[in-house]
Amino acid sequence: MEPICPVCHVMVRPTDFFCYNCGKNLHEKPMETTKFMEYLYYAGSLLLPPLGLWWGWKYLKQTDEHSKRIGWICIILTVVSSIVVTMWTVQLFQNINTQVNQQLQGIQGL
Ligand SMILES: [Zn+2]
Repeated sequence: MEPICPVCHVMVRPTDFFCYNCGKNLHEKPMETTKFMEYLYYAGSLLLPPLGLWWGWKYLKQTDEHSKRIGWICIILTVVSSIVVTMWTVQLFQNINTQVNQQLQGIQGL
């Protein structure tokens, strides 16, 4: 069976590294789509926010629907996680600020 380019569907030689027609990298490894790797990437997207965008992007570049869905979920999880961390940090700083202000007022009140 002759290999074909997944992007433009021309015949390519098995030894080709790039498609001569569109320049697609033919030896790019497909992303893992096993359940285990899927959940590992989801967990990574939640815990290590910037990396999820990179993984999501790589999945979105795959041709099958399942990979694309994983890509979107990685990106959504990354965004949600970033928002939660940002809100949590802002709240923490506001709490510290309030406490410091209360202590300062306590000192001034003496
Ligand atoms: Zn091609």
